[in-house]
Amino acid sequence: MHHLYNFRKRELIDLLKTYGEPSYRATQIFEWLYQKRATRISEMTNLSKKLRQRLEEEATVVTSEALRKQVSKVDGTVKFLLGWSDHVTVETVLMRHDYGNSVCVSTQVGCKMGCTFCASTLGGMIRQMTAGEMVEQLLWSQRLLDDTDERVSSVVLMGSGEPMDNYEQAMKFIDIINDPNGLNIGQRHITISTVGLVPGIIRLADDGRPITLAVSLHAANDELRSSMMPVNRAYPLEKLMEACQYYCQKTGRRISFEYALVGGKNDSLEDARQLAALIRNLPSHVNLIPVNYVPERNYSRTPKDQIDAFLQELRRLGVNATIRREMGHDISAACGQLRAEHAELV
Ligand code: SAH
Repeated sequence: MHHLYNFRKRELIDLLKTYGEPSYRATQIFEWLYQKRATRISEMTNLSKKLRQRLEEEATVVTSEALRKQVSKVDGTVKFLLGWSDHVTVETVLMRHDYGNSVCVSTQVGCKMGCTFCASTLGGMIRQMTAGEMVEQLLWSQRLLDDTDERVSSVVLMGSGEPMDNYEQAMKFIDIINDPNGLNIGQRHITISTVGLVPGIIRLADDGRPITLAVSLHAANDELRSSMMPVNRAYPLEKLMEACQYYCQKTGRRISFEYALVGGKNDSLEDARQLAALIRNLPSHVNLIPVNYVPERNYSRTPKDQIDAFLQELRRLGVNATIRREMGHDISAACGQLRAEHAELV
């Protein structure tokens, strides 16, 4: 079975060619899927009956179901738990900002990166998400926004999973949602976040897509970083910073560094100074994230004044830094809290 959300337009043109159909049919199908938000092939009334019949036999549209939808009472954040027929589940989150609506997409079911503060990695990585399955995640939010005539304006690949460990599907997803006949989401409004897989960063630098790169740093020396993020043993800071440098040179873009503050672990003023020194030569922005509570993880949050002091120290040293606003914490939709929770439902 073909999954229609899993095709770039030119790939759909190729498929349709094998059916003897002209290429404008692909544009029509894109318009049905992404602009009219059709969920069934039978709705695509400007396709020939013969084509519709063939697609009915050989292709699917929606493959996921929403098992649960939670809405934050605090800030309107919506978290969906989606399920697929092979019984895997992932979460996706819609965040409402004054500047627009952003969706956080999961790129893998679970994660194998093993970061010690994150819930997504607790059960390991179950399987990859396909591009089409990522598209479906986004569409659940978009359909909800359709009720109020709003649109998804930005996308972050920051849900469960490591996007650079699923590079091709992640890029395909970006191409599909960027298509002008489709959702037309600008690449500059798309952010990919990585734990620091160096080959992925280099590949992205060479690849020319003007998306934003976020790198999860969380510590500015190898000993500390390796204790929080096992990936640091494979790609220590020196290698990671070289790759970041290459990315900035090659693309002329700045990098967004994420730094989750964990009480007593990485939140001293000395840590702030090491961080400032580490990224001194890189055009960048630091996003400080007060670490979010994960029941299985044993750590505390940095007190508010210490967060402010950390921020001030960074700024004093010339670092561009802000504190990331927490969203959806009452529904466990915040950074690092996404998990497949289906087991608790049955
Ligand atoms: N694997 C990618 C993207 C998913 S995680 C990455 O690591 O970047 C998105 C962000 O949430 C990452 O910066 C991650 O380190 C951070 N995060 C994970 N657990 C967290 C927690 N408990 N509190 C705050 N941020 C967390």
